[in-house]
This record gives sequence, structure tokens and C-alpha cells, in this order.
Amino acid sequence: MFSKKHSNSTNAINAINAINAINAINAINAKNATNAINAIHFLKTLLKLYNIFMITVKERSGKVHYVEGPREVRAILRRLNILENTVLVVKGNELLTPDRMVEDGATIELIPVISGGMKCRVCNETAVIGIPRHNAAFCKGHFKEFFKKQVLRAIKEHSMFKRDDRVLVCVSGGKDSLVLWDVLTELGYHTEGLYIDLGIEGYSEKSKEMALKSAERLKRRLIIRDFSKECGPIKDVARRGGRTDCSACGTVKRHYFNKVALEGGFDVVATGHNLDDEASRLLGNLLRWQWEYLGRITPVLEESEGLRKKVKPLCRLTEHEIATYAFLRGIEYIVDECPMSKGSTSLLYKEALNRIELKSPGTKHYFYQEYLRSAVKRLSGTVAFSTRRCSICGMPTSEEVCSFCRLTERFSKVS
Ligand SMILES: [Zn+2]
Ligand SMILES: [Zn+2]
Repeated sequence: MFSKKHSNSTNAINAINAINAINAINAINAKNATNAINAIHFLKTLLKLYNIFMITVKERSGKVHYVEGPREVRAILRRLNILENTVLVVKGNELLTPDRMVEDGATIELIPVISGGMKCRVCNETAVIGIPRHNAAFCKGHFKEFFKKQVLRAIKEHSMFKRDDRVLVCVSGGKDSLVLWDVLTELGYHTEGLYIDLGIEGYSEKSKEMALKSAERLKRRLIIRDFSKECGPIKDVARRGGRTDCSACGTVKRHYFNKVALEGGFDVVATGHNLDDEASRLLGNLLRWQWEYLGRITPVLEESEGLRKKVKPLCRLTEHEIATYAFLRGIEYIVDECPMSKGSTSLLYKEALNRIELKSPGTKHYFYQEYLRSAVKRLSGTVAFSTRRCSICGMPTSEEVCSFCRLTERFSKVS
């Protein structure tokens, strides 16, 4: 986000000066096209410092932001921490959808959609969020109540844990896990956080800071495990192990979640997976008919020999609702997506489901809930359980050496 540094008249004068400068350079380098292009790039960068050639975003409140372009509407809103469903984005007379690209130099205007129109279902006050799949809207206070009720309902419906169980919450520094930690603590459960440092450049440091801030605010212990110190940055480990970044990251996280839970005597491991995560995973596995995974997309993975119980208490809530809750509770979290997950197929499935949801509210919820109610039992027989123990670390595995040890062993042999 960029603050307004100069008045528009100063900007205009700077622009004229800069254009004159470009013309002058163009004239000098008329025979040298490459130099001229470089000079223009340089000046464009310079102009950006003065908010010229930036995207101007005007809010109805009179607030003005400058964002570097070209950029998708969705990315602009994310950058400004504004929820997609809460504003109309207008350029001149044109209404822009979240996937539209906005060029440098353009001006767009944000018009709030929820202003006096929607009323809270409980108290009739002005709503801050509409929830079409429940045909409801809520004010700040009643939304937080609705949110907690959905979490409690998931915990009870799926017998996730009891009042006095010790819950290990896996926190990444993103909104889902930090909201989960916050809401479970608010509901009075015994929680502690676990953060695993994977050594992702430009990401891990910031996400760890967010996790620490939450620990401080909640006055709960945060357990930190530094994988990158033991084995090196996850990117290198994945490359040397011949695995994709996301698959290596998943293997490492699963290993530590279970290890720390066993060592620390926790009853259950809770992760921040939400309705969007679960529904998109289900869709992805269905599209490829991956039978071995289909029976495992459940809000609870029961305890078995050497494996702690794993639960997903946010499985009834969408990303949009979780982001709203984080905002209302003032929870700071890392907004950027993990740089390693860019272009992952799960984002594509999420977008597809969101498009369907927009036209037919409730589809996402129904797709996942009906699967849990009627389909998962028929599929669970297809799941193979691991009965052996890893010869290196002792964790349950279906092979001689577990996937974590294979990943990190190969790494240590090469290096
Ligand atoms: Zn209300
Ligand atoms: Zn192992």
C-alpha cells in the first residue's frame, strides 16, 4: 500500500517534467532504441515514486490509495485488505470483476455493497457480512457469535475433542490457523501453538512474527521447531529429494505435528483447514478419481498406533468468513500467499467452486457436507492404514523408511 505523498497538482507538474525528459532522451537516443527503452523504464520507475503511473484506488470515504500495476482487481483488494464481496469495483462506467486486470495509471473506485441494505438477522442492525448459503446477514457482534457456534458445532458433531483435552494448534502465521487458535482459546479450550520454521525466504520470518504476536496476545505458549536449521531450507530439501515444494512441505509438517503432539502429551492436533480447502481438495481428488485419498478428506482423522488424532474445527467456515473474523478481532496475519504455492491447482479448484457458489449459494457447503454424510463411509474401505514403523524415526509408515526420513536422509547423503 502506498500513501499519498504529493498533491495532484505536484504530480501533474512532475508528470510534465518527466514526459519532457523522456522526449529529450528519445531524441538523443533516436538511433539507439535499446537505450531509449531502458531510459523509459528507468523514468517509469522514477515516476512510480511520485504515484504517477500507479493505479489510483478511491474509496467512498475519500481515502485514496496507490497500488503498483498492472494488477488484477482481486490482488489490489487483497493488498488493501478489502474483502471482494464487500465492494463493487468501478472504472468509469464499467463494473470490474475480480479477475480483471487494471493497468498502471488507471483510476478505480470502490463502492461498499453492504450499507444499510442488509440487516443483521438477529438484532436488525446494519450488517457487516452477508452469508448467502445460510440466507443470513450479521452485525459485528452477532457474526462473531455465529462464527463461534459453527466452530462448536463442528467440534461436537464430529467428536473432535472434549473440554479438558490439550489441543496442539498448528499455526503457520496465515489467517486460518491464527483465527483457529484465537477462537479455540476464546471458547475456553486448553491450547498451545506449534510453528515450524521451513526457511522460506521472505516468508518464514514474517509468518513466525505473526505467530509470536498471537501467542503474546492470547497469553499461550508457542512451540517453535526450526526445520531449516536441522535440514536446510525446504526448497533445497525438496529439490534434492526430487519432490515438489508443496509435497515436501506437507510431509515435513505432518511429521512435526505428530512428533510434537506425542512428545508433549497433547490429546489432539488441530489444523486451520476450512470449508474452501476441504471442498476444493474433494473436487480435485474426484476429478482424478483418486480413491486412495477420497476416503480421507474428513474433519477428523482418528488416533491410531503412533499417530495422534487430527481435527479441522474450521471445516464449516469459508475463507471469506475467516478473513472477516480475523479483521473484526484485530488478528494480524501474513496476507501474502506462501510463495511456494503460487499457481497450485488447489487455487484453481477453489476459484471454480467460488464461481459456482456465486450463482448457486450453498453448493460448496452441500457438496462437502453431503460427502461427509453419505459418501465418505462407502469410501473409507479404500483407505490403506499403515501398520509398520519407520526404521529410522519410529513413526508409522507403510514402507521400511517413512516419507519424512526418505526426504531428509537423501538430503543429508547428498550434502
Ligand atoms: Zn446483530
Ligand atoms: Zn521416519
